Amino acid sequence: MSAREQVKAALRKVREIEKQVQDLEDEAAEQMDLAVGIAMENAGLNPVENIVVGGWECDNRDNLVGTCVYDDDEDPLHDDCLFCHAPEERK
Ligand SMILES: [Zn+2]
Repeated sequence: MSAREQVKAALRKVREIEKQVQDLEDEAAEQMDLAVGIAMENAGLNPVENIVVGGWECDNRDNLVGTCVYDDDEDPLHDDCLFCHAPEERK
């Protein structure tokens, strides 16, 4: 195989792997949405279209996901966790 062919083959493999990574990320996001949706319903909260999961542990025991979550449409600055009402930005 020529160098050109080897590079082409390697790049093809790179694109294949990137596609797989993207598919897995999509699947993980779907599962996270599912988990948050179930936790919200279980806590008696109305469903939200665009959920963002923050990085903080949530103080509200009803939050089965355990991490603060925000309504990205109504609260784009992530100031009000749907469960504990804490902001994402903390000192
Ligand atoms: Zn919270």
